[in-house]
Amino acid sequence: MLVPVFTLKLNHRILPRMVALGKYDGTHPCLAAATQAGKVFIHNPHARGQHVSANRMMQSSQDSDISLLNINQGVSCLTAGVLNPQLGYDCLLVGTQTNLLAYDVYNNSDLFYREVTGDNVRSLALCDFDGDGKKELLVGSEDFDIRVFKEDEIVAEMSETETITALSPMYGSRFGYALSNGTVGVYDKTARYWRIKSKNHAMSIHAFDLNSDGVCELITGWSNGKVDARSDRTGEVIFKDNFASSIAGVVEGDYRMDGNTQLICCSVDGEVRGYLPGSQEMKGNLMDASVEQDLIRELSQKKQNLLLELRNYEENSKQADLSAQVNEADGQRGVIPANTQLQTALSVNLGSDSQAAHVELCISTSNDTMIRAVLIFAEGIFEGESHVVHPSLQNLSGRIQVPLTPPKDVPVDLHIKAFVGYRSSTQFHVFELTRQLPRFSMYALSSPDSATEPLSFVNFTISERVQRVVMWLNQSFLLPEDAELQSAPFQVCFTSLRDAGQLCIKIKPNGEISISTDDIDLAGDIIQSMASFLAIEDLQVEADFPAYFEELRKVLVKVDEFHTVHQKLTADMADHSNLIRSMLVRAEDSRLMGDMRNMKKRYVELYDLNRDLLNEYKICCTNHTELLNNLKSVNQAIQRAGQLRVGKPKTQVITACRDAIRNNNLNMLFRIMRVGTASS
Ligand code: CA
Ligand code: CA
Repeated sequence: MLVPVFTLKLNHRILPRMVALGKYDGTHPCLAAATQAGKVFIHNPHARGQHVSANRMMQSSQDSDISLLNINQGVSCLTAGVLNPQLGYDCLLVGTQTNLLAYDVYNNSDLFYREVTGDNVRSLALCDFDGDGKKELLVGSEDFDIRVFKEDEIVAEMSETETITALSPMYGSRFGYALSNGTVGVYDKTARYWRIKSKNHAMSIHAFDLNSDGVCELITGWSNGKVDARSDRTGEVIFKDNFASSIAGVVEGDYRMDGNTQLICCSVDGEVRGYLPGSQEMKGNLMDASVEQDLIRELSQKKQNLLLELRNYEENSKQADLSAQVNEADGQRGVIPANTQLQTALSVNLGSDSQAAHVELCISTSNDTMIRAVLIFAEGIFEGESHVVHPSLQNLSGRIQVPLTPPKDVPVDLHIKAFVGYRSSTQFHVFELTRQLPRFSMYALSSPDSATEPLSFVNFTISERVQRVVMWLNQSFLLPEDAELQSAPFQVCFTSLRDAGQLCIKIKPNGEISISTDDIDLAGDIIQSMASFLAIEDLQVEADFPAYFEELRKVLVKVDEFHTVHQKLTADMADHSNLIRSMLVRAEDSRLMGDMRNMKKRYVELYDLNRDLLNEYKICCTNHTELLNNLKSVNQAIQRAGQLRVGKPKTQVITACRDAIRNNNLNMLFRIMRVGTASS
């Protein structure tokens, strides 16, 4: 069994996810971790007795091999790496809500300290996604997307069901990911290989070859203190260990300086364990005997269940042979007619006074059999991903309706298991099937009503047969069976089941398409969905979203105001700081001359000034937070304008919008968002 080759107990708590290992002198690997009170500690077991106490850094009073770095702000990100290859050693990068510090640990000095504006990015990784030998940037965001950037162009986007909290390259185009809802898994390019979901949170993921077979496993540190290593191909657990508290971070390095790289796991209460990969003799059996015994017990239980099932089948077929006619007793044993079928239908239910509008999944049997229970697994629709419907005995019937309200417009697979039998059955036949919920199932077909037609629209022309667009409509929306889509020109209108918003799609015989909706996200989703169905590589559009653009204009004015206030406050605070310096000198002069009356007066003034300064600082902070929020909205608007286009026009719009913002040319910005280019 694989056991740690070292264990350390550091007297400092470690903030979740804030662990980095670096060679800050170019030779000795040291752990750095964020701890309480806005500090980062650096554990250096290799250079004892070297005392530092200057600038930001000071020696820990508890541990001789720990130095503490003062950041004075909550740390939100920590990493280490070579910034300047000429220096030949790692520097430490510390991120807070507002700033980025690059720190030279070896020389105990700031390399730079910059103000930075945050966005909704939660995780980053570099990975050769398209196999061309150069790495692409993977970005995991709060809006549930994994985006792949090749230089500044987005080349792929994968939608997940929660915030992407971690990304880790494995090898080639394969990478691991973790979500805030306890999911971890592995992607290869845009295809998800496997995923598992736990009720615990994945705190840190890391790729490491723990069983020495030449392929990295996905190592996950969990909030309940568990660490597990899973096969990259199957997700099967090949090793696990437990800590007394939540895992804070998983890194790797040669911490013992003996030429072997260890997997290093740290818990929030400061426990650190290092593991060496399993030796050849272990043949990949990293878990102890008791785990193997558990596995054997589990397998023999499975065998028992299968034998029982087999015996039931044998009994049933014997009975069926004895009497050809169906009798009462058959129903009890779970024999259902061989031609029994399970049917599923999806439709839009507009709701009633007591029930909100929803998508209805109707499951029914094709004869007099009953559905005892239905189990549905679907990502992102149900709390805990599964849903069970289990009617009481008196309400049993051959038909079950399940209301669904997908929160986002993404296609979802519904994995359905239905238990079918008779009222008196003690055994049931299990039907298993998968049904796809169309991407825009939360929109009900409605009759065109020009009075409520949205003012916002996107217009474009495609060179495709109208029939193909109709196929896309049928695949993407839940259209009633009797809905007849004539040949062009025609229009279809929908009402959102979520907010009653209107959506109209008009198609002309020459391929001109107009999409009217006030929901710019929906317009973008529709264009992306249609373009991918019709395999359109590049698409330029004309768009106008008067209400949204008006809001954006207000946001931009606010950004300007916040910038001005920021500059003024910074200048004021600098003035006040100078004033404090001179007051302090005068107060001290008075003290030295024994003029206590004036000294007291000066210090009272100083106290008041200090209070003003603190207040100013508070205002400055609030101002900064507001500025950040508004900048986020601006960035979102640019992304949205991009989503209305496909391929090159999409990249061009995003780049041109950013240029317009940089040049503070608002009219240009709105022009680009509307027509897609800066030039007229
Ligand atoms: Ca590449
Ligand atoms: Ca391996």
